[in-house]
Amino acid sequence: MSKNQNKTGSYSFFNCIEKNFDKAARFISIEKGLLEQIKACNSVYRMHFPVKIGKEIKVIEAYRVQHSHHKLPCKGGIRYSMKVNQDEIMTLAALMTYKCAIVDVPFGGAKGGIKIDPQTISSENIEKITRRYTSELIKKNFIGPGIDVPAPDYGTGEREMSWIFDTFLSLRSGDVDALACVTGKPVSQGGVRGRKEATGLGVFYGIRELCHVKEEMYSVGLDVGLVGKKIIIQGLGNVGYHAASFFHESGAIIIALAEREGAIYNEKGLNVSKVFLHLRNNGSILNFPEAKNIENTEKALELECDILIPAALENVIHKNNANRIKAKIIGEAANGPITPEADEILDKKGMIIVPDIYLNAGGVTVSYFEWLKNLSHVRYGRMEKKFRENVNAEFLKIIETVCKKKISIEEKKMILRGPREIDLVRSGLEDTMINGFHKIRDLKKSLKIENMRTAAFVLSINKIIDSYEKLGIFP
Ligand code: NAD
Repeated sequence: MSKNQNKTGSYSFFNCIEKNFDKAARFISIEKGLLEQIKACNSVYRMHFPVKIGKEIKVIEAYRVQHSHHKLPCKGGIRYSMKVNQDEIMTLAALMTYKCAIVDVPFGGAKGGIKIDPQTISSENIEKITRRYTSELIKKNFIGPGIDVPAPDYGTGEREMSWIFDTFLSLRSGDVDALACVTGKPVSQGGVRGRKEATGLGVFYGIRELCHVKEEMYSVGLDVGLVGKKIIIQGLGNVGYHAASFFHESGAIIIALAEREGAIYNEKGLNVSKVFLHLRNNGSILNFPEAKNIENTEKALELECDILIPAALENVIHKNNANRIKAKIIGEAANGPITPEADEILDKKGMIIVPDIYLNAGGVTVSYFEWLKNLSHVRYGRMEKKFRENVNAEFLKIIETVCKKKISIEEKKMILRGPREIDLVRSGLEDTMINGFHKIRDLKKSLKIENMRTAAFVLSINKIIDSYEKLGIFP
């Protein structure tokens, strides 16, 4: 048993990341001290605060971890779950550092968490807890547009981000950049169009890119392209739902969807929006008319498929079920869904694993766009949309005159269109995910690295080293 393993022989979540980091470090020749600095969490804030719920005072446990200050502000989501603990939040903060570096988002990694079960607490009380947590962060200087910028994660969404912003503004009134203290806000509160679906869409772009590479597809015995690929998705929350919708729209076949209470299966494919409607109306995905129920939700991961997308929580693929996973490709939409032991088993089976530090970076990429929008105080496309449309109209007139041909109204509409915010955000995200994929793959090939995860870590660590080297070490 290694020094990183606990009594049961499993690794702590943070040790899992350290293990991945160490595998990558074999391909990097740099002073050991610098690697140790990159690995370590720079600041950990663990807090307990009281909140009056009904007639009782409840003590709430919460965290904010800033893993790396090599770039500021720090950035990372806030999760609400009874499983929240220091090890988990430290790990997720570290993942954020590596993720931001891969997609060239100039932030250090951070993460926050509150140990509550939002499903059993009224929204008034969630609001109280969120506002009190924000005021604790303000007191200790752990939040601000240039310091640390939270975002949504497991169990949180636009609603919580709005409360965080409002609390920040109340306590920092007059700060003209206050909107940039948090991302993932509703569009009416300074959010950016396209943020809600960004992580799921990024997952889609990343997997689509992989499926277009002949060499990769042939290595696992699949045809090129996404159309007709059989996909299983675990978790129908923000990330899983949007990823499932984009895969479905692009012609892939969603054969199973798994939630907490069980999974549903149809070999011919599930209609994702109909399943979502069924979930909304019944509070469960089970008993969907066009599918078979699978009572034990974990069993859905073990079904025959081309692509498996875990999009719920960490450590769902572990040494006890890894041997039974039959997918050819696993796309890590969730953070840390595969333990290091399982990773080794799956690697030996020759599966392609697209790692979380790349694949779910769509959320932070679009959060970066939101942050920039908030600091520039202007909506994307506002200044150039009409100008572009006028220039396009002039071009069209010239083309029609030269070619002596009239273009149809439908074609005209398409050609004349100036960029809207959603177009710019999505094209920025698509470009980021495509570039990220090829940078990782090129590095994997040139250094003969065994898998995409290690290659992604090497890419990321090299970029962080570059930052430290250019900055120097403050005495
Ligand atoms: P979410 O709370 O919106 O959704 C999570 C879903 O998983 C819920 O529907 C929940 O019921 C389901 N779930 C919980 N336990 C399950 C189980 N045992 N089996 C099947 N389903 C289960 O959370 P989210 O924002 O979609 O985040 C999901 C994952 O993606 C997390 O690991 C998160 O850290 C990661 N992530 C999220 C974002 C983002 O922008 N929201 C960005 C990057 C990474």
